[in-house]
Amino acid sequence: MTGFTGGEKLDLPGWAHAYSGKVRDLYVPTGETLESTPRVLVVASDRVSAFDHVLEPGIPGKGELLTQLSMWWFDQLGVPNHLREGDIPAEVQGKAMLVANLDMFPVECVVRGYLSGSGWLEYQESQSVCGIALPAGLQDGDKLPEPIYTPAWKAPFGEHDENITFERTVELVGLEDATALRDLSLQIFTKATELAAAKGIILADTKFEFGRDRETGVITLADEVLTSDSSRYWDAAAYAAGATPAEKMTSFDKQIVRNWLSVNWDKKGTPPELPVDIVERTADRYRELISRMCS
Ligand code: ATP
Ligand code: MG
Repeated sequence: MTGFTGGEKLDLPGWAHAYSGKVRDLYVPTGETLESTPRVLVVASDRVSAFDHVLEPGIPGKGELLTQLSMWWFDQLGVPNHLREGDIPAEVQGKAMLVANLDMFPVECVVRGYLSGSGWLEYQESQSVCGIALPAGLQDGDKLPEPIYTPAWKAPFGEHDENITFERTVELVGLEDATALRDLSLQIFTKATELAAAKGIILADTKFEFGRDRETGVITLADEVLTSDSSRYWDAAAYAAGATPAEKMTSFDKQIVRNWLSVNWDKKGTPPELPVDIVERTADRYRELISRMCS
């Protein structure tokens, strides 16, 4: 399994670097491999990715913010998750999670309450998202009649994740698991939407990843959850007042980065370096989400 080659490889006593994704670095106990180990140390870096590219520079403090937010959500949701008890090396305290090594499903479980991003692009072409037909006349940023499950196939590193139909997930993981992934995703999304709404925040969409616990067989919520990297969060008051999509999308996520890149990069070759003010504004937005959500 090849991952992101620019990942950080920290010297952590008792742990060996095993894999780097675009944002997280995975460590296994010394002497184990990613195949054999029951436990994995997931360290969230400050790296930021958009359009499947890792950008420079990172967002200072982002690793801690993502970890804090994920842990908070895991605690709220009341579904089986991958967090496990154990010592975390002092060097990575605050930005690392000790987790069960799960057999991950190759499906990104996306749920959308609002039309945006790749959902909006697909809608304009087919008036549907991942095979789910939607009403005519929706605009970018509009609320959907009800949340929809729009899975994506988890592409190998360097390739684009691909929106797929529910039927395709049945082919990938079987009817029983595909149904469980969909139902769990919608259930968690509904609960998270309510919790966010109570804080004046709209959860527009998000992506979950699940795996099967190797010991118990239980389908378990993994990865990061409901973070500003994996979700679109909008300010509810600004949304209510905003007439245009741009105004509606006062967002607590990396939309600032995506917007800047869309104007300053043709999406070919290496992306340009992010300017200091974009980095700072993104960090501010991530911090603001945590202070509003977790207080
Ligand atoms: P990829 O790894 O495919 O490049 P990515 O760039 O999104 O995806 P990161 O999110 O940076 O990767 O890295 C986290 C990796 O760890 C992902 O591959 C994710 O599927 C995997 N992962 C998360 N939780 C677990 C778990 N409990 N057990 C095993 N793997 C996990
Ligand atoms: Mg990921």
